[in-house]
Amino acid sequence: MKPKIKWTPQRLAILKYLDGNKEHPSAEDIYEALSKDFPTMSVATVYNVLEFLKRTGRVKEIYIDPQKRRFDPDLSAHYHAICIKCQKIFDIQAKINIDNLKSLVPEFQILDTQLKVYVICPSCQKKASLTPGYKEYKCAKCGSIRTAKHKPQKCSSCGIRGFLVEVHPTN
Ligand code: ZN
Ligand code: MN
Repeated sequence: MKPKIKWTPQRLAILKYLDGNKEHPSAEDIYEALSKDFPTMSVATVYNVLEFLKRTGRVKEIYIDPQKRRFDPDLSAHYHAICIKCQKIFDIQAKINIDNLKSLVPEFQILDTQLKVYVICPSCQKKASLTPGYKEYKCAKCGSIRTAKHKPQKCSSCGIRGFLVEVHPTN
């Protein structure tokens, strides 16, 4: 007999938030989006619900972002590319040719494959060609990057003040 699932309002809200979501959100992202409507919700609650949704086959975890655990409601076989600048994750709808792989490791049974692709996304490529006098500022809270002449007080993405730091080009 299958155990009965208790669909609490918080579990339902998280499931609904994830349904069709292409952003590959982290528990923190989900918390930010839903905590206004659920004042008793904590990041720990969100993690618990995500673990539950994983166990019951409703979301999968993606291991591509070294900073955050990210989750995907799209259970189809696909791969991911992460932009090293804005940390957005993009779907790559492709299949790895398992027969080719098998011939490389014939004595093994292949259970799963992962491919991690690191990219600079089109919008970050555009930003890279910065107007003279402009600098890049990254929000230490949400990780989003914007360009400006002077250091902005407030992050235009998450709205938090005082966490913007200048991004120094690495080469
Ligand atoms: Zn990007
Ligand atoms: Mn995906």
